[in-house]
Amino acid sequence: MNTLHAQTNADLHCHSTVSDGTLSPEALAARAHANGVELWALTDHDEVGGQVRARDAALAMGMPYLTGCEISVTFAGRVVHIVGLGFDADHPALVEGLRRTRGGREARAHEMAAGLAQAGIAGAFEGALRYVGNPDLISRTHFARFLVDAGHCQDVPEVFRRFLTEGRPGFVPHRWATLHDAVHWITEADGIAVIAHPARYDFTPTEEYALITEFIGHGGRGIEVVTGSHTAAEALKYTETALEFNLLASRGSDFHSPDESHTDLGKLAHLSGQLTPVWEALESRIQVGIA
Ligand code: AMP
Ligand code: MN
Ligand code: MN
Ligand code: MN
Repeated sequence: MNTLHAQTNADLHCHSTVSDGTLSPEALAARAHANGVELWALTDHDEVGGQVRARDAALAMGMPYLTGCEISVTFAGRVVHIVGLGFDADHPALVEGLRRTRGGREARAHEMAAGLAQAGIAGAFEGALRYVGNPDLISRTHFARFLVDAGHCQDVPEVFRRFLTEGRPGFVPHRWATLHDAVHWITEADGIAVIAHPARYDFTPTEEYALITEFIGHGGRGIEVVTGSHTAAEALKYTETALEFNLLASRGSDFHSPDESHTDLGKLAHLSGQLTPVWEALESRIQVGIA
């Protein structure tokens, strides 16, 4: 492909029913295409089980595709998300690493349900399970949808505020992958690791500096600048960060659901022309025809 540039309508972050989105990989591909996306990646949490379906649907519509995932990492006692792009989805170290990262989710969900039961909400495990597309990937989002539909809260953000964040009755601390491992799984599989939605971590400048420099030290090369999780001011701030640390810039809606997401697929501001988009470095990894 020789049509890639900073203004390409790339959307390299979203979720399907294979993790905590509400649309199938095929429905997401159709929505991305209808919204004018020119380069797409499905990035389910800790899971590549939707990659073949997403790619086949994208390529059938003539929409170029990059493989993707979003790995849950514990860094400095906090959860950080690392997006992987353009990797070989069959690479054994990546597949096994993701399998282990998913591993604790069911036990954690039972603990979450026990905490919610103490707060007077019975049957949350079975309730959340009804919203789960992939039994390996029961997430806080599925609990949130159950609590909204059961009438405990008005919307998903309210559930997170009242029940699912640190100090709240349904919150269970969990150890995810290490930053080292997540970056290595992605890069060993020939992909590029990207720090997802950096403004969402509430790190101090010192903590953020540690995250970025350790990430680069492990071989990480990219950072999300324009995302559905950033305000315009945050995109500006992370444009500066990308330039300062010589990081490749990524762009993605983080779309989960037509009913919940504020930013639709492909409906994002463009990257600044000063930045090097991550897709320029991934040109050889972009799939344009069925192999
Ligand atoms: P988990 O991986 O099970 O801890 O769930 C994390 C997911 O919950 C994220 O990927 C988001 O989709 C969702 N999430 C986290 N915080 C919030 C929030 N404050 N409001 C709405 N959704 C959230
Ligand atoms: Mn999510
Ligand atoms: Mn995320
Ligand atoms: Mn995401």
